[in-house]
Amino acid sequence: MSTTTSEAHKHVPHTPFHLPRPRFRKPSQLIQPLDDTHVHEVPPTASETGNSGDDEGLGPQDGVNVQDNEEPEDEDVVDPGSLFEQHLSDNAPSGSLSQQSVHRDDEENPFQYEDDTQSPNFVPNIDDIRISYKFINELRSAKLDSPIEPLDDTLLQQILDPPQHLLEVENPDERLSLELYLATTHTSEETYTNACVAVTRRFPDCRLLSYYMVKKLVEKLSGVSPIVRDMCVNSCIGYTGPYASIEDCPHCGETRYKIQGKKKIARKQFTTLPLAPQLQALWRTTEGAASMQYRQNCTKAAFEELERNNGVKVSAYKDFFDGSDYLEAVAEGKIADNDMVVLLSIDGAQLYRNKASDCWMYIWVVLDHDPSNRYKVQHVLLGGVIPGPNKPKNLDSFLFTGLYHISAIQQAGGFRIWNAKSGQIFMSNIFLALVSADGPAMSCLNGFVGHHGRVHCRFYCPLIGRHKPGGPHYYPARLKPLGFTVTGCDHDDVDINALLSSFTSRDAEKAYNHNLSRVVVSRTKTEYQARRLQTGVVKPTIFSGLDPNMMLGVPGIFAGDCMHLPALNIPDLYIPLWRGTFDCDSTDTKGNWSWAVLKTQAAWKAHGQDVVAATPFIPGSFGRPPRNPAEKISSGYKAWEFLLYFFGLGPCLFYNLLPKDYYEQYCKIVQGIRLLIQEEILPDEIRLADKLITEASNSFEELYVQRRTDRLHFVRASVHAPSHMPYETIRIGPGIIYSQWTMERMIGFLGMDIRLHSNAFANLTNIAITRAQNNALIAMFPDFRPKPKLLPRGAVDIGDGYQLRRARDSCSRAVTELEAQAISRYFLDLGFSTDDDGTPFDDNYNPVVVRWARVLLPNGQIARSRWKENLKPINKLRAARSVRVTLSGRLQYAEVHFYLSWHIHNIEKHFAVASFYGEPHQGILKQSSHSYYTVQHKCDVDVRAFDIKSISAVVMMAPDPRYGTVFQDGSEKDRYYLMEKPGLKLGRLFGWEEDDTES
Ligand SMILES: [Zn+2]
Ligand SMILES: [Zn+2]
Repeated sequence: MSTTTSEAHKHVPHTPFHLPRPRFRKPSQLIQPLDDTHVHEVPPTASETGNSGDDEGLGPQDGVNVQDNEEPEDEDVVDPGSLFEQHLSDNAPSGSLSQQSVHRDDEENPFQYEDDTQSPNFVPNIDDIRISYKFINELRSAKLDSPIEPLDDTLLQQILDPPQHLLEVENPDERLSLELYLATTHTSEETYTNACVAVTRRFPDCRLLSYYMVKKLVEKLSGVSPIVRDMCVNSCIGYTGPYASIEDCPHCGETRYKIQGKKKIARKQFTTLPLAPQLQALWRTTEGAASMQYRQNCTKAAFEELERNNGVKVSAYKDFFDGSDYLEAVAEGKIADNDMVVLLSIDGAQLYRNKASDCWMYIWVVLDHDPSNRYKVQHVLLGGVIPGPNKPKNLDSFLFTGLYHISAIQQAGGFRIWNAKSGQIFMSNIFLALVSADGPAMSCLNGFVGHHGRVHCRFYCPLIGRHKPGGPHYYPARLKPLGFTVTGCDHDDVDINALLSSFTSRDAEKAYNHNLSRVVVSRTKTEYQARRLQTGVVKPTIFSGLDPNMMLGVPGIFAGDCMHLPALNIPDLYIPLWRGTFDCDSTDTKGNWSWAVLKTQAAWKAHGQDVVAATPFIPGSFGRPPRNPAEKISSGYKAWEFLLYFFGLGPCLFYNLLPKDYYEQYCKIVQGIRLLIQEEILPDEIRLADKLITEASNSFEELYVQRRTDRLHFVRASVHAPSHMPYETIRIGPGIIYSQWTMERMIGFLGMDIRLHSNAFANLTNIAITRAQNNALIAMFPDFRPKPKLLPRGAVDIGDGYQLRRARDSCSRAVTELEAQAISRYFLDLGFSTDDDGTPFDDNYNPVVVRWARVLLPNGQIARSRWKENLKPINKLRAARSVRVTLSGRLQYAEVHFYLSWHIHNIEKHFAVASFYGEPHQGILKQSSHSYYTVQHKCDVDVRAFDIKSISAVVMMAPDPRYGTVFQDGSEKDRYYLMEKPGLKLGRLFGWEEDDTES
């Protein structure tokens, strides 16, 4: 890389490595915003939160005008596809793509395997735009004490004037009640009551609180009280904002109230948990306040690095705070040291299988926490719960309540927080960093057309789709099919690198604003639909109601989905192609699909068996192993299963199965994605991933589509979307930081509680509230935090995150000759000539040893050993004895026999004795872009001992079923192939812990 600005990269289509660098021109300027002078000042009183003046007007700002007048609308629009096409040719824009580019790719059939594919019933029309602007405008004039979103007095008081002391519960009975309550959170009310009865029986003077009273106390102490608003019984809308005073649902006509006696009672309600008190709670202990320092430290380090290296980042991307968008926002003074940076994640959940139980939820992830803490359930804050049974028809109306309070705080320049560490009140503002959602939810949030649009890309890049003659769907095909003459999309081939390297999130924002302004002024439905088609913009997003200085821009705020895209959408493209089950036009014939190697039942079954055969060798720490795809792929095959199957086992299992070119294309996408789902990604790895993904994307069109119009439908959004991932990493950090995995886990966790109860929705809401209150209470009251886990029985902490764990020999044992030699060599290399008994370390060395069976690694994995694993039947095994070690700076893989802990001349040495795997087959490694690592493993040949702390991970080494189909060189009998855990530390981030069973 010789240049550092994106400008310089324009028109360099043939240089594969030209990702834009963060655009920092004068690094010295960038340090400035970290200065204390940029911290928001604390105003004299807490209650000055804004001025009055109700904006009744609907006119959006920024020169955008919604036509309020009722224009006659064309109702006879039957086929949007053909209509769009006609208007497209009428209004075909000339020249610059950036004029027209727009929106959202999501994945095709994001939930095909989850039985959850339909998008929400959003029916765009101009009324919708009007309603959207009403929400946006009310947000823009939000005030904490406004009647639009009234808060009860206690809550308002809490936000405006937080308590300025450590939380203390002096009454010992109340204290014991609280401890009992928190200890029984995941059980039932009955458990709490029974515990209280037991305590009182022994200590009759104890006056423990009833369940009801203790809950009240928790609510009071936590400062988290739910805000409840009415909603449609069919979950179409929440009665908020412009819907606040209506009495019938505008979508389904159901009434809002039922009459009970003389009273009108809301038929259904939803719950919002205001963010501010939950954020205040995080600062209410000295430890809590200290841990909030993380972001400032990262920011400082990031700017210092850029300063040192002339604006070029060389260290790994680890967090959102490494991304150029964040650093620019800081440099521009948008984010002060004391502000809190949050991410919103929203998702729908099916609470029960086979039961109508759709429910939506949103959470706040506080990025100011260190990533190792951030995603733990007790640190994720709940935003709101939207009960089912259906998907919301207007999601804005449900988000409105939660966003309103944030907007009010932003408008007021922040809110007051008491810092327990400094004992001071300070002003903090809330910066909304990102919004993440899966495909269907995202289309409600960002207001883009979706993945079949002419301008489909969710990042609003200027790629224009192509459609088949007369067909309604556009596909992001970059290569122009032969003889292709469809007006409006018969542009020449597009070079993806040229397109993306000169494209920034600011370009996207500019184009978006421009196009939005065109769409919203549409006078007739016909005009609206034509413009919508041209621009990909359906309506403004509710997030444009927030302070533009306190969020990343639109569409930059909408993060890509690094869970569904790789784990579901990409496999969902390739596997049906390989099985020959993909749609085939009548002019095409599957007989010509040379890639359809799994077309026959026999082939598909045999492949499925290969997947199953790997199971005993996939370590337990890898999570759920993939089930047999030939049997289960269409019944709830999970994202994680796909990740292990398609991106883990695949490069071996598809070797010499797919035709060579197709195999190589597949490996490129696999390796590119593997690099980008890591939790730490080096700039060089981003460049490599970009190269691989670009090549894979090019080859996909060449190999599968072959410039045939009747195969345009192969080019799904999931062919284009990965091309953005490298750029997105530079912009907002590794995808894992904002992936939907967090949300899924949260829902899973709540789900466990919910299943204890009978009425799912009512209970979900209660559980959500309880959790938010408990979390806030625990945050303020470290005494209530569960005690850190003690070492398991018999374990020995050997430092740096490593622990020896049982089993352990009860008496000394002899070892094999090779093992003895390995031990002897290990000590000789360390400079010892004899052991403590004076026996020399030589070829005749023959010690007796006490073996250890397991070691806990700093990444949370537990490495095991051949000693104990060999005692288990293969069908009970999830082998975890193969490890990755770094010796003399070189990565190697070894099968551990056992671990030892020795005193030698008053020094303690902890080491492993292991058989090393051989060298990988270089030809295959190269052909597979380093994704297929196959080695020969002759047990007990190359036995060596090494420090336990040189072990960095547990890996899968499974018998290789494919090598021998090409090579019969004698090594095919004991060939093994490697799979490393995708994302590696991913599980740990989310509080995953390996089951700690001995043996
Ligand atoms: Zn309704
Ligand atoms: Zn794009």
